[in-house]
Amino acid sequence: MYASSVLYLIVRIVSLVAAVVGLVLRGIADLVGPQGCAACDAALERRSVFCSRCASMVERATTPAPKRAPFVFGGPLRDALHRLKYGSRPDLARPLGELLRAHVASEPGFERIDLVVAVPLHPKRLVDRGFNQAALLARSAARELGARFDTGLLVRTTATLAQARLSAEERRTNVDGAFTARRADRIRGRRVLLVDDVVTTGATMEACRRALLDAGAAEVVTLALAAA
Ligand SMILES: [Zn+2]
Repeated sequence: MYASSVLYLIVRIVSLVAAVVGLVLRGIADLVGPQGCAACDAALERRSVFCSRCASMVERATTPAPKRAPFVFGGPLRDALHRLKYGSRPDLARPLGELLRAHVASEPGFERIDLVVAVPLHPKRLVDRGFNQAALLARSAARELGARFDTGLLVRTTATLAQARLSAEERRTNVDGAFTARRADRIRGRRVLLVDDVVTTGATMEACRRALLDAGAAEVVTLALAAA
């Protein structure tokens, strides 16, 4: 009896120490920053997202809602997002999230946001990939704004076709009614920032925006990291 409780105590202490060490290591990794450029892995001289060569090729965007995004989807930014999504590099969400974070911090209109949500993946795709890149970016924005971040409020109810191969009209019908808002009590009256990684025609953003407004959101502002 006594031996088993001592053993239990030891196991608890060891797991606690392991958790603390893990947190400290993650903190150090965050301080040190990424090992290289988010697009090409070149060594970084200072804490930044891209190397100077890639940074010079990242293009600023000035697209209106629902295609609002700080950058053009192309060049090194497209490479970085591609690596994040398909290259098993969820670590790139941190530097890319910094870009979104800097945008909401410097641009007017985001200070009134009190809830941040991301365009959801279909559950099957989420299982395949292991993470929702839009949610990882959205979390950075929420942290900057001091707003609540909630991943479970929007759900993709139908497995839509990949938007990339469809025309603008097909994209609209493809995502029409594909999203449902859950927990209207957490949405009602909120000023919501809806985040995606890339916006193309804006059809997905618009379908999500409508679902949030139907659930009673006072306002829905859309923002992607890049506009195609
Ligand atoms: Zn680079």
